[in-house]
Amino acid sequence: MNENVSIAELGTWLEKYQTFALMSHMRPDGDAIGSQLGLGLSLEAMGKTVHYWNVDGLPESLAFLAGSEKITKPPEEAPEIDVAIALDTATRVRLGEENLLAAAKAKVWLNIDHHISNPLYGDVNYVDATSPATGQIVYEILQQLQMPLPAGSRDAIYVAVSTDTGSFQYDSTTAKTYRMAADLVDRGLKVGEINAKTYDSHPYRRIELLRALLNTLELSACGKVAHWQMLDQWREDLALQPDDSEGLIDMIRAIRGVQVAVFFEELPGGKIRVSMRSKDRSVNVCDIATRFGGGGHALAAGIRMAGPMSVAKQQVLAAIDEVL
Ligand code: 5GP
Ligand code: MN
Repeated sequence: MNENVSIAELGTWLEKYQTFALMSHMRPDGDAIGSQLGLGLSLEAMGKTVHYWNVDGLPESLAFLAGSEKITKPPEEAPEIDVAIALDTATRVRLGEENLLAAAKAKVWLNIDHHISNPLYGDVNYVDATSPATGQIVYEILQQLQMPLPAGSRDAIYVAVSTDTGSFQYDSTTAKTYRMAADLVDRGLKVGEINAKTYDSHPYRRIELLRALLNTLELSACGKVAHWQMLDQWREDLALQPDDSEGLIDMIRAIRGVQVAVFFEELPGGKIRVSMRSKDRSVNVCDIATRFGGGGHALAAGIRMAGPMSVAKQQVLAAIDEVL
């Protein structure tokens, strides 16, 4: 059984080697990309060589982050690298096959994450499920190891933590999180500017998607479960990008009386992506997701499962009903 190492031990691996591949989960969010840039730009400031890979590339909504153009899809030929680092990725599979192939020559795998369901799949693991975001873990690593914190890392870490805490609102946000944010502001982070770039700059098509989703909204289990669905065809109809739906689920999570919000999304090829949010620790959506091969956190979890939509919906809603 693998165990967590200390940050000091993690530091020996960062110190010892020269070439790194930093990777995050497919369909990356702010925490995934922010953690890659937060750690990677610091390693680069130490003179290291860093590759930044994601199987889905960089989402358009995060292109404002300095250095984000360095995020690429993994190369087909595996380059010589020393260390592979998985960030914010609950399982190896969520990195995607292409990442695993591209990192084939790594001498050691580091796994840095905050998902409670993470099975510690690295050679060296640092998983802290009490952290609200992997970005906050990256911050703690840079602080404890006295690594550089360039402006690019500073901003990326802030966006990572802000997006994974619903703008510093969720229960997982602690005094430590606010102290970190205060320190980043002390270091010159422009709060208004970065929040405007993160939250007030959505493409029009995202709001069209919201309109279409609202037309499918349903309440079940006596108003305790709110769910809506997105069809694959909408991608073409509305010229959607993969990250256009990011965070929309918070709209229905916010309905009074609702305990669980569920987003069913039909993927190209017919699989169904299920996103779940719970407001209440008595309904652990990670446990429900795990039953269907997914995972995540107690209050935010996801699944990729077989379709068709009607069957996936019926199965997942029945599992939620049972818990309620
Ligand atoms: P989201 O609903 O925002 O896609 O994901 C919520 C949380 O659940 C995230 O922490 C994410 O990493 C995790 N998650 C989402 N989909 C999956 C999945 O298919 N498998 C696993 N293991 N975790 C997932
Ligand atoms: Mn995260």
